[in-house]
Amino acid sequence: MLRIKNYMEDVVDHILPDVLKKYPELCNCKQCISDIKALALNNLPPKYVATPMGEVYTKINELSIQFEADAIRAIIDAIDKVNKSPRHS
Ligand SMILES: [Zn+2]
Repeated sequence: MLRIKNYMEDVVDHILPDVLKKYPELCNCKQCISDIKALALNNLPPKYVATPMGEVYTKINELSIQFEADAIRAIIDAIDKVNKSPRHS
């Protein structure tokens, strides 16, 4: 039985640190980073793939290239929203 996972989550996980580096003034607490990730994923179409357990991002890298531009846009939108109304206490 293969694991069904949302491949977009891997794409966002992979890209998020690079995008965040461009926003050094941004709060990087767990709440804000998680909100950014969740918001970005909500704005991206899910891409479910069946993968063996433990399959890593780089093994299916060809797939990612076409989604990275969309993911970057979604992350930047999410950063903007979280920056304007952070939920951290
Ligand atoms: Zn924060």
